Amino acid sequence: MKPAIWLDGSLRDPDSAMVSVFDHGLTVGDGVFETVKATEGRAFALTRHLRRLARSAAGLGLPEPDLDEVRRGCEEVLKAHPAAFGRLRITYTGGISPLGSDRGTAGPTVVVALVEAARRPDATAVVTVPWARNERGALTGLKTTSYGENVVALARAREHDATEALFGNTVGALCEGTGSNVFVVLDGQLHTPPLSSGCLAGITRALVLEWVGAKETDLPLDALYRAEEVFVTSTTRDVQAVHRVDGHTLPGAPGPVTAEALRIFVERAAADIDP
Ligand code: PLP
Repeated sequence: MKPAIWLDGSLRDPDSAMVSVFDHGLTVGDGVFETVKATEGRAFALTRHLRRLARSAAGLGLPEPDLDEVRRGCEEVLKAHPAAFGRLRITYTGGISPLGSDRGTAGPTVVVALVEAARRPDATAVVTVPWARNERGALTGLKTTSYGENVVALARAREHDATEALFGNTVGALCEGTGSNVFVVLDGQLHTPPLSSGCLAGITRALVLEWVGAKETDLPLDALYRAEEVFVTSTTRDVQAVHRVDGHTLPGAPGPVTAEALRIFVERAAADIDP
């Protein structure tokens, strides 16, 4: 499937859809984004994603996005590929600005791209990384296009045959992955780090909290080695069991708590496209 692109108000040929070399999203990472699951012409949890896009834009001081317009862009690309199993990538940037000036002058850039997605395996390996997430930074909790740190951490994961890297924060508490939130089972109880740990308010995380239930708990990073089960959540992974953390294996993954969380998540998500 060729990706479908909607750029600043209309569907474009993906081979000729262009963003300026002076777009602030490109030059300084002054942009925000969302990744939305698309199945058979429908976008999952789109309203929550649009609200988070607006929150991230406000946190970065970008002009308020026109969410009706972004929703229309999503609908148009989905209409172009009604059978696609993929991801809608929504990107909203500060717009075009000559290098050196502090913000775009020609209005924001809005891109919606539909790309195909691979089906994820049931269980995966993860690594911890020595770099800390800053739980008190200006960008904490915002889904900005400044993802360089995550790219570096993910490369570290791949060097160890893992698909995700988990960060602690500046006080050594478990935080999140490069593109996922993390849940841990300790003494049979499901826990996830609170938003104050510096993690993104993941939409899958929120749905697991609402539908399955878990305690929001500050945990040391090494809780991962003591856990009976670990799983990660994201739009691209849903609920995905972890079978290895660094050199430590979790035999039998997905364990019973993870399997039940996945079952409930899949059932509830199938019943409500925009929970
Ligand atoms: N944490 C980070 C840093 C992310 O980038 C993402 C998603 O890309 C998540 C967590 C999971 O969020 P969601 O469940 O909304 O996909």
